[in-house]
Amino acid sequence: MKNEKEICTQCILHSRVPEVTIGEDGLCVYCRISNHLTEDMIKQNSLLLETKMERILKKAGQLNRPFDVLVYFSGGKDSTYILNVMKNKYKMRVLAYSMIQPFVTDVAQENMEKIVKALGVEAVKFFIKEEIFKKMIGFGIIHGHKYGLTEWVGCEICGFLTKWVGIKIAMSFGIPLVVDGMDYAQSGGGGITEGEKTLIKMKNGKKPFGRIHDLCNDALGAEYKTSIYGYNEEELLQGRYPTQLSPLCFLDYDPVYSFEKLESMGLSYKQFKSLNTNCELLYLFDYISMKRYDCDSYIKLYASGLRQNYDTIEQLELDRKEHKKRLSREEMITLLDEYKNVLFYVIDNNIDENTTGEKEKNNLLDLIKFSRQLFGEDTIDKLLDRVLKMHRQADYLNIDLQNLDIRTT
Ligand SMILES: [Zn+2]
Repeated sequence: MKNEKEICTQCILHSRVPEVTIGEDGLCVYCRISNHLTEDMIKQNSLLLETKMERILKKAGQLNRPFDVLVYFSGGKDSTYILNVMKNKYKMRVLAYSMIQPFVTDVAQENMEKIVKALGVEAVKFFIKEEIFKKMIGFGIIHGHKYGLTEWVGCEICGFLTKWVGIKIAMSFGIPLVVDGMDYAQSGGGGITEGEKTLIKMKNGKKPFGRIHDLCNDALGAEYKTSIYGYNEEELLQGRYPTQLSPLCFLDYDPVYSFEKLESMGLSYKQFKSLNTNCELLYLFDYISMKRYDCDSYIKLYASGLRQNYDTIEQLELDRKEHKKRLSREEMITLLDEYKNVLFYVIDNNIDENTTGEKEKNNLLDLIKFSRQLFGEDTIDKLLDRVLKMHRQADYLNIDLQNLDIRTT
């Protein structure tokens, strides 16, 4: 492992982040690629994918199944947008599907019901067995790197469970397409994965989610092989594997199907504030990633946001009117450093919501002067509330934070 931490001179990625190397020119591999892409190239590629998607949607519609698409629906803003687009723009028969894991917030659950009702779509909620969730996340956080998982291991495993169960449900209903609200930075892929190609790969021994299936097997044991979480090749090869679409990877955002439209259906923009719908486990995941790789779980997403001038999650908490500030590279580095200091203070001093007095609270606030200035006290209070739950969550997942094994090999 390199001790010297080298930071990319253009974004915030550094040499301790998995899969990142800094070249002689001082740039990370992502910036180097992004500097070579012209807007024209990106546009061309997006148009091609959009046309391809429209062809796939049309074909799916002609199959006359009970549903054309299963939409992964978290109750957050991106999946709500996609649900609306699929139903009303492309006139698909959609089934909204939500994975309810133990940390899905009440706000997110309320959102789901309101939106499903407002849009008039059918929906299923899948409540994952708590034991499965605990075992997968607890085991994955500690051992995930042995299966090729990186700094966002916690979210990746949860995302896997969500998607895998969704695919199994789609297959059992004969739904030919599964659609999610991930953009290019989140999915890290092209946006369209054809089911038939996935099947061919499976026949050649390549599992759809790679070694996460092996992790699942090792974490849960042989008895789960035939469960909905398991990888049963024979059964999968007999079925029709759905095509996966991530339209936000290539689709231009269509304002007609955005929040203005949703607001006219009685849903407020405030309900989509990311902090309200984001998973509460994120802070614990971030702490572990910082210990192991000296970076936030979503550092690549933030770096990509910086390259493309997106907003950070905390910024979305601000009202739309104030919602203009774009972060510079230096500001983002400062914010992430402050965030890191807070997480380490909470763990090192072993404090939680019950043991935090005035003194600790003030010490914490002292660590995040710039964040407070930028986001305001309300957002910061909400963040601190959540950060103080880390110890309890670690206990829940059977993770010993004081003796964390942070080896990466
Ligand atoms: Zn870079």
